[in-house]
Amino acid sequence: MTHFTDKVAVVTGAGSGIGRALSVELARRGAKLAICDVDTTGLAETEALVKAAGGEVRSDTLDVSQRELVLTYADSIADHFGKVNMVFNNAGIAFTGDVEEMSFKDIDRVMDVDFWGVVSGTKAFLPHLIASGDGHIINISSIFGLFSVPTQSAYNAAKFAVRGFTEALRQEMKLAKRPVKVTCVHPGGIATNIARNGEQVEGRDHDKLANSFDKMARTSPEKAAKVILKGVEKNKARVLIGADAWVLDKFVRVTGSKYQGLVTSFSKRSGL
Ligand code: NAP
Repeated sequence: MTHFTDKVAVVTGAGSGIGRALSVELARRGAKLAICDVDTTGLAETEALVKAAGGEVRSDTLDVSQRELVLTYADSIADHFGKVNMVFNNAGIAFTGDVEEMSFKDIDRVMDVDFWGVVSGTKAFLPHLIASGDGHIINISSIFGLFSVPTQSAYNAAKFAVRGFTEALRQEMKLAKRPVKVTCVHPGGIATNIARNGEQVEGRDHDKLANSFDKMARTSPEKAAKVILKGVEKNKARVLIGADAWVLDKFVRVTGSKYQGLVTSFSKRSGL
């Protein structure tokens, strides 16, 4: 028996990276999986890995930015399994560009997936999590939900918003004595496809950005999944992943708003 045995866990963005690693690890620990993603090929690969790990799995193509579809999906998963215990709102995209260069459409797209996707997933599943009597919402923010950097304003905005939304929700669940735990996750650099699949404004070198990310992303998605599940078991309010996340969190807390000048100097020197 593990903390996850026979729990029904939903993972969005399960077709790659952290979502895939979470799905496989949850299956190994005895959870029943509802996995979804926009990437049907990646999702099918994850489904096969979950089955190989001995997991019961339902797999659905879902775009988390389509609110009505997320609402229908939540009801359908609750009907299918008879309950929902955990939701990992993990699906996310990257986008690089200065505010001056970005269109409103670029910013909307990041907010639609990285923020509103999390809000829709949370609101859609919350009644089912409460009904289960043993629920947990895990929302994936980022270290970029703790501090801002140039070229990431849209992503920063979405990830700060996820953090604010999730922290308030945790407090509300406690005040209302709801049987739902809430955890906000802040990964540092995790070696996934997020930067390679990411987009950028015209004129930015996609390969250069992806290669720089690959150099900085030191933690494997498998390790990230284990850290997240440990945080879930312990009902942590905040989970930091990777030494970079720990160091940068401390750096921002020690320097206060002065971190901004230091990050600006670093960005100038590194050309990122
Ligand atoms: P990833 O390998 O790119 O996986 C994300 C998955 O989400 C992909 O399969 C992607 O499909 C899918 N997705 C994108 N838009 C979607 C949508 N609208 N609806 C449903 N699925 C969608 O990225 P990852 O690194 O594992 O990222 C997982 C989460 O961790 C994200 O929220 C990300 O912001 C966060 N995070 C990652 C890092 C990192 O260093 N990797 C650091 C901090 C936070 P496509 O491939 O088709 O886009």
